Amino acid sequence: MPERTETDSRKLLRRLQATLAEAGEGQERLDRITNLIADSMKTEVCSVYLFRDADTLELCATEGLNPEAVHQTRMKLGEGLVGRVARSAQPINTADAPSTRGFRYMPETGEEVFSSFLGVPIQRLGEALGVLVVQSKDAREFSEDELYALEVVAMVLAEMAELGAFVGEGEALQQRHLNQVMMRGSVAQEGVAAGQIWLHEPRVVVTNPVSDDPDAERLRLQEAVQDLQVSIDDMLRRAKDREQIQVLEAYRMFSKSKGWLRRMEDDIERGLSAEAAVEKEQSLARTRLGTVPDAYLRERLQDLDDLSNRLLRRLTGQGAETGAEMPENPILVARSIGPAELLDYGRSLKGIILEEGSVGSHATIVARALAIPLVINVNRISTEALNGDFVLVDGEQGVVHLRPDDTVKTAFRDKMAMHAKAQERYASIRNQPAQTLCGTEIRLDMNAGLMADLPSLENSGASGVGLFRTELQFLTRSNVPRRGELASLYARVIQAADGKRVCFRTLDIGSDKVLPYMKPQDEPNPALGWRAIRVGLDKPGVMRMQLQALIRAANGGPLTVMFPFIAQLEEFTGARDMLMREIDREAAFGHVLPSELEIGAMLETPSLAFAPKHFFELADFISIGGNDLKQFFFAADRENERVRRRYDTLNTSFLAFIEQIVARCVETETPVSFCGEDAGRPIEALAFAAMGLRSLSMRPASIGPVKHLLRRIDLRDVRSVITEARANGAMTVRPAISQWLRTQS
Ligand code: PEP
Ligand code: MG
Repeated sequence: MPERTETDSRKLLRRLQATLAEAGEGQERLDRITNLIADSMKTEVCSVYLFRDADTLELCATEGLNPEAVHQTRMKLGEGLVGRVARSAQPINTADAPSTRGFRYMPETGEEVFSSFLGVPIQRLGEALGVLVVQSKDAREFSEDELYALEVVAMVLAEMAELGAFVGEGEALQQRHLNQVMMRGSVAQEGVAAGQIWLHEPRVVVTNPVSDDPDAERLRLQEAVQDLQVSIDDMLRRAKDREQIQVLEAYRMFSKSKGWLRRMEDDIERGLSAEAAVEKEQSLARTRLGTVPDAYLRERLQDLDDLSNRLLRRLTGQGAETGAEMPENPILVARSIGPAELLDYGRSLKGIILEEGSVGSHATIVARALAIPLVINVNRISTEALNGDFVLVDGEQGVVHLRPDDTVKTAFRDKMAMHAKAQERYASIRNQPAQTLCGTEIRLDMNAGLMADLPSLENSGASGVGLFRTELQFLTRSNVPRRGELASLYARVIQAADGKRVCFRTLDIGSDKVLPYMKPQDEPNPALGWRAIRVGLDKPGVMRMQLQALIRAANGGPLTVMFPFIAQLEEFTGARDMLMREIDREAAFGHVLPSELEIGAMLETPSLAFAPKHFFELADFISIGGNDLKQFFFAADRENERVRRRYDTLNTSFLAFIEQIVARCVETETPVSFCGEDAGRPIEALAFAAMGLRSLSMRPASIGPVKHLLRRIDLRDVRSVITEARANGAMTVRPAISQWLRTQS
């Protein structure tokens, strides 16, 4: 690094710090900063563009362009060179701006006379805030060191913006973290909630980004890194499970990475404080995180991100060490969260908002089990929200209102009151049967997966547990649970069900449910891959152990077991034989056997609907796994936001298929139920009942609404509405049913 530039960038930072320390309104400060940067970098122009909203940038201050253009000139993300810098989060450095791809002439600014252009993103931990630009008349490319200096200045600006240094002028900045924001996401668990934000990873704020004592800062960094290494070694010594050890080893490797340390020391040399240097590297890693397609590399970058957070907390004394108290009505906000971490929070949460996630993710399964409203895919929420901000979570519409104004609050209060009233209505029919006006009784069971679900059996009025997903105990820990642990958990579940039927589904892993301790299979199409019963039959060790645990848990009482993802008769006979062998084995050991044994199959692939009659005779019952069945019927991935809602469950072809399955079960008198998510949607439940299904299993929260509707209708009417819609060639019967329902009040 040439000595001259080193001093220049440090000098520039020192001047910047002095300017920021001076009193003044936000706009005044911005003006002084652009003036100072242009002066220090010997350019005619320096401009700051900031995001007005998610995709519009606004010129907020300038030295050298027409001052009249300030707060007037705006551009869309990706538009012009400035828009390109913002979109790509990459600098643009050109000697001939007008001929550079993407250049857009803004007549009001008078910038056409400037040939050189250097623009860098203003971003904080991967969050784009704006663009900082210098321009000059002489046609020259800016040097590496000039680029570096501008990047560092941009970073300091981002830090200061975070601290509200520019509040007071300029709409774009003034409202940061203060204004009300409405954000859209996707519904993962219905329900409404109001409360205060609780950030899963608290934001660390760097209050002193600049330092002119590099020796002292280098020492602080080295000490913090050493401290961190000691604590990682300590954690490694105490770590027991393989996965945790692997992650900690990755941390240790990164914490000793010479490249990482050297880059941070260089940053300090150029005028940054130790924490700002850590954050600069972290920001870079986050930007890369968004562009790396390789899952393994992304995970390593995630590790580095976590390590940087720990280092930042050490250097600033913020974060976990602040001892901040969880608010009374916490709404958890995170980029993403693991199922075990979510279980740790438990039912204390009123709502959850995630930036990432999918409807089938483990975190979603846990949130559903705990009946906490969850909205996922809410872009930017973890950077926009601050701890303690008031927020409304609308898990019916998939909308989040952050810092809402009074009008929104009032409307939402009405919505919550309506919700509470509906809950009262459902509670009043809790002990009534789900009997239609024509006298048909539909059995409503609940789906479960955790011990924590069992109290819902009583509260919801469910007849039993129609689907107990056993994979959560395997997914939320880092090693295979032992037989004894499983047996005691299943026994507790059976006990809590207090005589009601519990249908245990054997381990359904693979596809999106990857066990942390299982070697990930590199499959081109995991949903169609080695999953569920296929794994159980090919590698029987875990399934056998699970079957033994179930037999022991039954403790001489009745036992109901079903096998997931059966695609042909032979898979069912194979699994069934395996269970019978375990029964014989337990008998040989002198263990008590279940008093009754029901063995069922999940119908989740269209092939099984066409299985030989013998399959329907052999199965004690069949449960339609509608989530999977629908994705294979329409060839539309249930995890893919683009297509998962493309085909309606009430599509006449799908309903005809369900009807056909019911007919085959009626022929052999095989009990059949439907346990996919759609069973819990009132209109869908109605249509399924009209197709002949007499047993549905759903989330506990859905039992009330479904029962309420079923009790108000005559299935013969629904049937004729469907018949008519089909005769008219309707693609889906939804409009006809909805229309008919409106006439029935
Ligand atoms: C289904 O596929 O409908 C089902 C109930 O199983 P899971 O959602 O666990 O795959
Ligand atoms: Mg399934």
